[in-house]
Amino acid sequence: MIIAIDGPAASGKGTLARKIAKDMGIPYLDTGSLYRAVGLLTIRRGGSPAEPSDATAAANALNINDFTPDDLRSEEAGNAASKVAAIPGVRAALLAYQRTFAAQPGGAVMDGRDIGTVVCPDASAKIFVTASLEVRVQRRIKELREKGESVNEQRVWDDMAARDARDSDRSVAPLKPADDAFLLDTSAMNADEALASAKAFIVSKQKT
Ligand code: C5P
Repeated sequence: MIIAIDGPAASGKGTLARKIAKDMGIPYLDTGSLYRAVGLLTIRRGGSPAEPSDATAAANALNINDFTPDDLRSEEAGNAASKVAAIPGVRAALLAYQRTFAAQPGGAVMDGRDIGTVVCPDASAKIFVTASLEVRVQRRIKELREKGESVNEQRVWDDMAARDARDSDRSVAPLKPADDAFLLDTSAMNADEALASAKAFIVSKQKT
């Protein structure tokens, strides 16, 4: 079974995808980490994430094991990721890896922005997770404070709004729900409620 989970930053899709994968015993891939790694590698090589030749060269040289989870979860990585993600050469370089992961015999749970629309259009279940910008900003502020980082609230808001706009407005694989995706708005839900709702949908797809 391939389960595609897409949505904007801090919508809760990563937490949800990890829980579904663990509960169902299906391998999990956080595809955002691939774009984050390309963004960081572009910077480490002295390039600019918005420059197609720099970012595409980094994507083709990527070894995901060169990055720690802390490197990948940083705000610097997230912002660089949404710039490299708009470049067609970067998306093409990462597509084969994602499709190979999806094709493994044990199935896959994958989260990202274009899993249901581009990477796995034939996925067995597609879920598009959303939450209001205000709720997502508050979640990100809480997460940063828990990590002990000093937080400029306005900056978090501005960065997230800019990232949403870049992800939704780009011409290649923009962030949008697949026509057959289940829309899950987590603005007023906790993680357990979101999981229950998503699992009910997945079970309904297993029966069809
Ligand atoms: O999900 P996460 O916040 O880690 O993703 C970082 C960035 O990578 C996103 O803002 C988006 O620009 C990009 N991305 C993408 N397609 C995916 C996964 C992530 O464009 N499948």
